[in-house]
Amino acid sequence: MKTQVAIIGAGPAGLLLGHLLKAEGIDCVVVERQTPDYVLSRIRAGVLEQITVGLMERLGLDARLKAEGLVEEGFNLADGERLIRIDVADLTGKTVVVYGQTEITKDLMDAAPERGLQVIYGAGDVSLHDIESEAPNLTCTVEGADVRIDVRFIVGCDGFHGPSRKAIPASVAREYERDCQDFRVRPGG
Ligand SMILES: Cc1cc2nc3c(=O)[nH]c(=O)nc-3n(C[C@H](O)[C@H](O)[C@H](O)COP(=O)(O)OP(=O)(O)OC[C@H]3O[C@@H](n4cnc5c(N)ncnc54)[C@H](O)[C@@H]3O)c2cc1C
Repeated sequence: MKTQVAIIGAGPAGLLLGHLLKAEGIDCVVVERQTPDYVLSRIRAGVLEQITVGLMERLGLDARLKAEGLVEEGFNLADGERLIRIDVADLTGKTVVVYGQTEITKDLMDAAPERGLQVIYGAGDVSLHDIESEAPNLTCTVEGADVRIDVRFIVGCDGFHGPSRKAIPASVAREYERDCQDFRVRPGG
């Protein structure tokens, strides 16, 4: 198989990136170790920040999110009998939407066939090769058959423990971290 980009991992990051690339006319394939049912049964996050909602809107995949998501403008902290209101909308000008990660994954998964996004589920032994060259490739097994995908780029959306992180040579690996130490509640707030 030959395509432009191979994405490892069909979690929310991998599927969203796949849709964004397809929307820009870039051919790609997503390779996932688990089955669709397994991915959807993995309960995780439930709160979406505005940037994620905006991306789903841009892709035109936000119909269910808009209909079923709960917009939250803040939250309460309880101190004994006292409730302290943290007004996120007032403090940041932004809101969050309560909508399960599995729901967003389902929306992205369901839209894949109609948008021509190929997702290979149940891929075993996913390995990255020649990643520092102009012509990297990815190999895996699907239903017992060996598969090789020649690409221009490989994107690792396979989490901390997936094969992508380990495949990056230490000499070129860079890690970035954003530490939000600067958060302060306004006086009187
Ligand atoms: C219990 C829990 C609660 C959480 N709660 C929140 C929350 O409330 N709010 C919040 O913002 N975030 C929360 N998170 C974090 C959030 O779930 C992650 O940030 C999010 O899942 C990251 O998405 P992702 O697509 O990068 O990775 P993942 O969802 O982990 O997807 C990675 C994909 O890669 C696949 N993969 C792994 N190895 C391979 C391989 N060898 N070959 C092929 N595919 C592979 C996996 O099967 C998986 O489908 C929570 C996480 C957990 C575990």
